[in-house]
Amino acid sequence: MSSAYLQCIEESCGRRQDPKKDAHACAFCGGLLEVKYDFEAFDPEEVRHAWHQRRLSGEPIDRSGVWRFRELIPFIEAGNRIISLSEGSTPLVGTRRTGWWAGPVHLTIKHQGNNPTGSFKDLGMTACITRADVRGVRMVACASTGNTSSSMAAYAARAGMKALLFVPYRQISAAKLAQSLDFGALVVEVGDTFDEAFRLLREIAPELGLYLVNSINPFRIEGQKTIVAEMLEQRAWRPPDYIVVPGGNLGNCSAIGKGLRELKEMGFIEKVPHVVVIQAAGANPFFRMMSSGAEELTPVEHPNTQATAIRIGHPANWKKARRVLEWTGGFCESVTDEEIYEAKAMLAADGVACEPASASTVAGVRKLVRAGKIPWHADIVCVLTGNQLKDTEYIMRHRAEAQETHQRLRVDPDLDALRKALEAALAVPA
Ligand SMILES: *Cc1c(COP(=O)(O)O)cnc(C)c1O
Repeated sequence: MSSAYLQCIEESCGRRQDPKKDAHACAFCGGLLEVKYDFEAFDPEEVRHAWHQRRLSGEPIDRSGVWRFRELIPFIEAGNRIISLSEGSTPLVGTRRTGWWAGPVHLTIKHQGNNPTGSFKDLGMTACITRADVRGVRMVACASTGNTSSSMAAYAARAGMKALLFVPYRQISAAKLAQSLDFGALVVEVGDTFDEAFRLLREIAPELGLYLVNSINPFRIEGQKTIVAEMLEQRAWRPPDYIVVPGGNLGNCSAIGKGLRELKEMGFIEKVPHVVVIQAAGANPFFRMMSSGAEELTPVEHPNTQATAIRIGHPANWKKARRVLEWTGGFCESVTDEEIYEAKAMLAADGVACEPASASTVAGVRKLVRAGKIPWHADIVCVLTGNQLKDTEYIMRHRAEAQETHQRLRVDPDLDALRKALEAALAVPA
């Protein structure tokens, strides 16, 4: 039997919610909700062994990097259908040269771009859509900077549900829009920012009886938190000193913190890594709040950054995220678009690519080491949240100078011209 229940995170409220409904805000005070469990006592050794054994299994539930850790997310009954696309099981890659550049630190990246729709959102979506399916939901909705929508569209298609998504007009990358259309979602382009689209969706949702799958839906967080178990397993259960994530709506940071806390409480780990959040300078309300010591978050009215996945001025999960930084002794940093591009180019030179928002993590590490806030040789995992191909317009803009630097040649189709062009280009050192 599942022991899951929803509880308000506000200290002044903390009330359990009606188990017959999946809400995304507290029925009493409007606060954020989280999923809680009466976990049975675990023998970590035994459970770890079971997780390990499942890697050899061909069952879809075991092939999923989320459901393989199902002891951590017991919110559905045995026998319920799982809506999965074999998400998770993403690589952990050592990046020695980038670590040298950013530090020197011992840098490893956890590449969540290697997911079915190309971002970490798939981890949360399998959990959330499975839950919606159990509840008999026929239509799901979200507002998105592009990746939540691609992911929702895929999992909704898989489950046979209708997908309705709100995106800011001309503010998401072509690839992300194309993905959503490809999966057959109904796309509504509305407002200039994610925040505007999200506000309108939240207002209209009750009227239309929409089931929202944004990260205010606590079941998203449950799926996303399993990244911590997978990462620790890949590291033979030796926690790093720091886990670094980009911060947009702050769901990922909340999920990682919840995962760490539960694994610690259940005896899987002793040491808890510091969780570090990096925001883009043009969309950094959480950074501003944390660094000024303000009690409340002041939204950024006109969020602006080329890292469109984190172009969010009013992050819904800031209270959960603040709690995570407090629990883990973490902090928040802010980086410019130029710093993000430098980090992305450095990763690419190391053979690792990602979308711009993801590279903010490495840019943040570099800045924090230079400021003396992260020590040299620290053991750091940066979570790269999205795939390189999510935003090729960004790459083409930044590689526009490629013709001058002899990286890109346009040559007449004759041998002499080809020889001449290559002579010049090949003389450029690698
Ligand atoms: C959604 C997203 C983020 C931001 O994650 P939050 O949970 O909203 O903080 C960062 N990078 C990419 C690529 C994303 O898709």
